[in-house]
Amino acid sequence: MVEKLAIHGGKPVRESYLPYSRQFIDNEDIEAVSNVLKSDFLTTGPLISKFEKEIADNVGAKYAVAFSNGTAALHAACYAAGIKDGDEVITTSMTFAASANCVRYLGGIPVFADIDPNTYNISPEAIKPLITQNTKAIIPVDFTGQPAELDQIMSLAKEHGLLVIEDAAHALGATYKGRKIGSISDMTMFSFHPVKHITTGEGGIITTNIKDYYEKLIQFRSHGITRETTKLNEYHGSWYYEMQFLGFNYRMTDIQASLGISQLKKLEPFIQKRKQYVQMYNKAFENKNEVKIPILPNGIDSSWHLYIIRLDLENLGTSRREIFDALQKENIGVNVHYLPVYLHPYYQKLGYKKGLCPNAEKLYEEIISLPLFPTMSKTDVNDVIEGVNKVLSYYSN
Ligand SMILES: *Cc1c(COP(=O)(O)O)cnc(C)c1O
Repeated sequence: MVEKLAIHGGKPVRESYLPYSRQFIDNEDIEAVSNVLKSDFLTTGPLISKFEKEIADNVGAKYAVAFSNGTAALHAACYAAGIKDGDEVITTSMTFAASANCVRYLGGIPVFADIDPNTYNISPEAIKPLITQNTKAIIPVDFTGQPAELDQIMSLAKEHGLLVIEDAAHALGATYKGRKIGSISDMTMFSFHPVKHITTGEGGIITTNIKDYYEKLIQFRSHGITRETTKLNEYHGSWYYEMQFLGFNYRMTDIQASLGISQLKKLEPFIQKRKQYVQMYNKAFENKNEVKIPILPNGIDSSWHLYIIRLDLENLGTSRREIFDALQKENIGVNVHYLPVYLHPYYQKLGYKKGLCPNAEKLYEEIISLPLFPTMSKTDVNDVIEGVNKVLSYYSN
């Protein structure tokens, strides 16, 4: 006999609400930030380049350029890639809207390739037939922290003269066939939003090995302005600078960078904690036929931003929404990532139609993200497992 669910007035598995994610800030982080507040520089000072160098070294890239947030970083990468009016860029719909919005900012057209139903990442086979004369780039997303099929994507890009801008907002610290994410694509973006692996409050970065992109990114981040004498058209004295194209103010502050530097020291232990909890989830759910656990192809190491279970709704005889609401009532902070991007009203008004990516749409109906973050305890993880088991057995009876 299953205990009555909290949704029906029964006792919830947890007394207090467990969020799906939250940041970890310790005294070292607080001290790092307060030291900047007492220093000469609040915005672009010495800590920006220090943070950039540390990220570049960490992922094995030549260059890194920090931005005010990850979305700004993607916008800059699309600019550096030369995306303009009418250019097509192939991406996945199983992502946060920013992966496609960055193309729209420059007048480009996002083209959505369907996902692989096993990995949930963009399918290289689905990309191929979408490549046209107008295609300029591919934006794969390392969904949940699990690297996309980068070898196949890079070779498709090479064959057709396309750039690859990797949205690795979920994947700092992940590796693909032994290579670190951030060192593989033409440009790779990481986000430092508080739910991501490390945080700067708001923040993002692009890593690249190509000097030309690096220089464009730096200039785009600061209004399109340069002071580099070799680049100036004229020279009126040492005060002189030129705005050479329409850039933005997308600079990160030294306050943010100080937090990033302090957080980066903890990246490895953060990921280890996530992996430990993922193993607990996997062990608890791998033999349950009401759910599918994540599948990692050989050679792919996830940094586990998200842990998603896929419900067998036929077997359960209910909807994702009922299971979701029941888990919320048990005080388990579940979430859903994501509504396929083109189903948002903005994209629907542009003319994208339901049915475009059937695998992504089907996945969306069946997924639930479970709480996963380094400051949760083993007891929290066990509460989630107990809550999921309680709700699933209620419905499968
Ligand atoms: C978080 C996120 C972004 C955007 O990052 P912000 O720093 O919040 O602007 C882009 N793509 C994906 C997949 C994300 O999860």
